[in-house]
Amino acid sequence: MSTPSLDFDPSAVQLPQGHFIGGAYRQTDEAQIAVLRPSDGKLLGHVPDASAGTVDFAVSNAHEAWKTSGWATRSPRERAKVLTRWAELIDHHAVSLAQLEAVSSTRPVAQAYASDVPFTAEAIRFFAELADKLGGDIAATRRDSLGFVASEPYGVIGAITPWNFPLSMCSWKCGPALAAGNAVVLKPSEMTPFSTMRLAELAVEAGMPAGIFNVVNGRGATTGAALTRHPDISKISFTGSTRTGAVIMSDAAMHGTKPVTLELGGKSPQLVFERVTNLEHTARCIASGFIANGGQACVAGTRLIVHRGIADALVDAIKAQLRNVAAGPLWRSTTAYSPIISRAQAERIDRLVEESRASGAEVLFGGGYFEDTDEGFFHRPALLGNVTSDTPAVREELFGPVLTVQTFDDEDEGIALAGHPIYGLAAGIHSSDIGQALRAMRRIAAGTVWINRYGRSGDMIIPTGGFKQSGIGKDLGRQALEASMRHKSVLIDFDAM
Ligand code: NAD
Repeated sequence: MSTPSLDFDPSAVQLPQGHFIGGAYRQTDEAQIAVLRPSDGKLLGHVPDASAGTVDFAVSNAHEAWKTSGWATRSPRERAKVLTRWAELIDHHAVSLAQLEAVSSTRPVAQAYASDVPFTAEAIRFFAELADKLGGDIAATRRDSLGFVASEPYGVIGAITPWNFPLSMCSWKCGPALAAGNAVVLKPSEMTPFSTMRLAELAVEAGMPAGIFNVVNGRGATTGAALTRHPDISKISFTGSTRTGAVIMSDAAMHGTKPVTLELGGKSPQLVFERVTNLEHTARCIASGFIANGGQACVAGTRLIVHRGIADALVDAIKAQLRNVAAGPLWRSTTAYSPIISRAQAERIDRLVEESRASGAEVLFGGGYFEDTDEGFFHRPALLGNVTSDTPAVREELFGPVLTVQTFDDEDEGIALAGHPIYGLAAGIHSSDIGQALRAMRRIAAGTVWINRYGRSGDMIIPTGGFKQSGIGKDLGRQALEASMRHKSVLIDFDAM
């Protein structure tokens, strides 16, 4: 099959309208939220800002569908057939989904087509395949008893997603929740709502009963909070910032003691020891690890901790990797670099860089913005040296393409610098001495460790999730399906009847 031409006219893209509730798009007369195109800052469209009443309508629809549609009670393999068809439809509509992602998020169309859309389909397919593989346990009880642990769905799961990678984030939340037999009400980020709504429409086309997967649009503090607090939401699965995660955890505790899965922020280190097999490869891993999606990835490796003996050579090799990075409209198939999502986020990056410079940091390379990009904020990759663990750009999740550089002299010092006081999402370790790399792996508190590589593969079996304030629980892997089910302990006496 030949690759379609991916260049497109952004003004010709059809946007889903309203909310997606009970298997259909619903228009409301609620206040509208303007959605901008990050690529050029122009107005893309609007979504309604759901009131608590609309959230209640969506959750009631989901609850009713969960009780009556047979989704929860049919065999997992029957659910898997629908999820598999859904994944096929996602693949089939890859071009239009990639276009939707490219107009409203920070994803260049070629990357959305080559990775975001197929990864989204793969995540759904993975959970379809896993649906009947985790059935609970038989307990070791007395011989005249039978004890077992049965898994069952929670009911309606509330999912809340961020603006980065909207398609993938939706599949990470919905794949396990739906495979386990739950219904879902999802609130996407108000900045990137459209591709999620289209996924919900495709789920119904694939045969998912109306009301099992719903999307409500709106702002976090109102719509998101109403979802978290709703009495018929049995669990919350959230991806976003650590600050919002704490608010949601508190809300979930105060409104029904609901369990939460929280995938939160990070400030991940790239620890490079003195001996690496291939310096060019290491430099490529580090460059792509902090500029992917314009640095707006939770696992972005934004703190380089490098042995003094190779620091200059590695920094030169990283600079060489960054020289050809170029901005361009996200609807042009040759664009490979992402803009910052919004003016507010660009201002936050600028402030943290300025505060870092005021505290002594030195710009070693890049910085500022590409010109000739309309109103889009395409931040040039930047390297900051002369920093300490207290420098704002080292301490805070900056969410932009800025790499700080620190050096060390021995293994203990390098590992100590790699640790972060509050975050523990991911870490990269680069060393040709596997013993050294594994020692560091054991000592660094991070939910994911990549050795001599950086970034996720397409292996959906590998879960993702953070330690410390980077999160609670896992997305992907068997763990995500297990976390979408509650476990009932059953004990039967044979001879009491
Ligand atoms: P955010 O926390 O501002 O918003 C995330 C979502 O929460 C949005 O849908 C928002 O509307 C909603 N929200 C905000 N306040 C709320 C409230 N009081 N109650 C309920 N919902 C509320 O995050 P963001 O800026 O959209 O996304 C970037 C953040 O997400 C970064 O910190 C990044 O590290 C994190 N992230 C983490 C992962 C992961 O897997 N760990 C993946 C992607 C992004």
